[in-house]
Amino acid sequence: MNQKKHKAEAWVRPEIKALSAYHVPDSANFIKLDAMENPYQWPEKMVDDWLAVLREVSLNRYPDPSPAGLKASLAEAMGVPSGMDVILGNGSDELIQMIALTLAQPGRVILAPEPSFVMYKMIATFTSMEYVGVPLAADFSLDMGVMLAAIEKHQPAVVFLAYPNNPTGDLFDRDAVHAVIDASPGLVVVDEAYHAFAGDSFMDELGKYDNLVVMRTVSKMGLAGLRLGLLAGPSEWLGEFDKTRLPYNINVLTQVSAEFALAHREVLDKQTQQICTDRALLMTELQATAGVQPFPSRANFILFRVPKAKKVFAALKEQGVLIKNMGATEGPLAQCLRVTVGTAEENTAFLTALRQAL
Ligand SMILES: *Cc1c(COP(=O)(O)O)cnc(C)c1O
Repeated sequence: MNQKKHKAEAWVRPEIKALSAYHVPDSANFIKLDAMENPYQWPEKMVDDWLAVLREVSLNRYPDPSPAGLKASLAEAMGVPSGMDVILGNGSDELIQMIALTLAQPGRVILAPEPSFVMYKMIATFTSMEYVGVPLAADFSLDMGVMLAAIEKHQPAVVFLAYPNNPTGDLFDRDAVHAVIDASPGLVVVDEAYHAFAGDSFMDELGKYDNLVVMRTVSKMGLAGLRLGLLAGPSEWLGEFDKTRLPYNINVLTQVSAEFALAHREVLDKQTQQICTDRALLMTELQATAGVQPFPSRANFILFRVPKAKKVFAALKEQGVLIKNMGATEGPLAQCLRVTVGTAEENTAFLTALRQAL
């Protein structure tokens, strides 16, 4: 074979070549506490009722392109104020992508605190936007001097604020978020992926600002497999985002399953309450473990620092417990690991393995 370079080499955008594909580790046979999933199944009777609903689905037909019933159920369940629009995404990841596609122009900026959710930066790259990450303060709060200066300097088309933040876990100060919204020339997206565990929200403030939208997902409340996210806000924004949505982005199985799950909200709510209770127990145990520094959490995971994160992560894995290594040896996430709150048994297994690993 000659040494001619493959055509892909010449044509793939350099910024895409420079990326590595989003890596999801193989988790078979592990106690899986790495991905902020709800650990619970549904009661058997509920599964049977759900399967009965699925029987009636017409897989030969395209799904409803804009399912009004599902949107209304979600709006009701999520407390979307009346007068505000709702659009749906194939996970909130797709909504982030739709927002970027709508606002992208050469030189335009997506701005977010760092560390935060990695997809903001990745999607900025996909859509040829510039990404500006603004470091959080050492205690993971918004460093307002730096944040406001960055907004002033870069005039971002969109600012993403995860509330609570991932991977740090806590809520930002509400007044600081207000100040970011006030100072931002473009859109501010408050990403409430962990709302179910947070007990706080900006949903009520929709309509008070012409540059605020709120994003939610059903992923972290027990339906990660469905891939369904929701954006709520003024129709002036959402009507435009909707134009970049691929037709039929929410498949028919997701549509009927989400409707079904929302009609059994009390089951999901009970699971959420259990996770919040277990989060408090896990926090107490981590605080009581010498060498471990856990950070406050209003989400279904806890970020914590240990003396040697890489070694502890590997030892946990050796014992069959998979969590997330933040992979940093310096900077704000230095020696940090992130554990998802699992069942009581899983949390105990994790703590036992952790204490052995330290
Ligand atoms: C998990 C997560 C999402 C992605 O949610 P999907 O709806 O599953 O795509 C969005 N934002 C934050 C901050 C997250 O942690």
